[in-house]
Amino acid sequence: MHAVAIVAAAGSGLRLGAERPKALVPLAGRPLVCWSVDALRAGGVEELVVTVPTAARAAFREVLGPDVRLVHGGRTRTASVRAALGTVDARAEAVLVHDAARPLTPPDVVARVLAALAGGAPAVVPVLPVVDTTVVVDDAGTVHDTLDRAVLRRVQTPQGFDRAALLAAYAQLPEGVELTDDAAVVRAAGVPVTTVAGDELAAKVTVPHDLALAELLVAAR
Ligand code: C5P
Repeated sequence: MHAVAIVAAAGSGLRLGAERPKALVPLAGRPLVCWSVDALRAGGVEELVVTVPTAARAAFREVLGPDVRLVHGGRTRTASVRAALGTVDARAEAVLVHDAARPLTPPDVVARVLAALAGGAPAVVPVLPVVDTTVVVDDAGTVHDTLDRAVLRRVQTPQGFDRAALLAAYAQLPEGVELTDDAAVVRAAGVPVTTVAGDELAAKVTVPHDLALAELLVAAR
């Protein structure tokens, strides 16, 4: 199965407090985006498309080399993925969408997603259980409901899709509607989404604590 991965890397890194795009922030001396690209390749992806902030294109080219396609990202993650999807070869059967900000994603997670697609699933996401009690609050912070955590899952990336199903779902999504992941885009189009086991190592680097933890994990290898 020919699989293409889109790596969403056009975010700013504001929450990380970095003075450069988050995907270029180093982990053990290598930019986050390089770790993510390596994990996808090791898991079985042949072709890579990376969405980048327009102003930082040259810096991304320098660290990623010539073997990945760079696409200018949009204002939001949804817009960035939409732009990248437009460049994916029609011969590709599967498209994976991955956050550059998940540098330590084990190749096994990528392989599980690809295996589910090869088995016929049109959409698949890696998930983890919710271990904390999870509540619903109002604007004042008052708790209104406690959710049954047994049926809740945290969703990671890479998320995998049948290329035609993902393309059709993005085509149906009205311009300006922003969703936080691609599974939500295909679900909005009525496509069933299945799950495989995620991994705590695939955690997203968002705040400085996450980066410090990732550094410790690499040092402990
Ligand atoms: O903001 P968040 O952490 O959810 O972003 C997830 C991923 O989407 C990041 O890897 C980020 O670089 C990417 N992104 C993007 N284009 C944007 C905003 C975020 O590719 N406009």
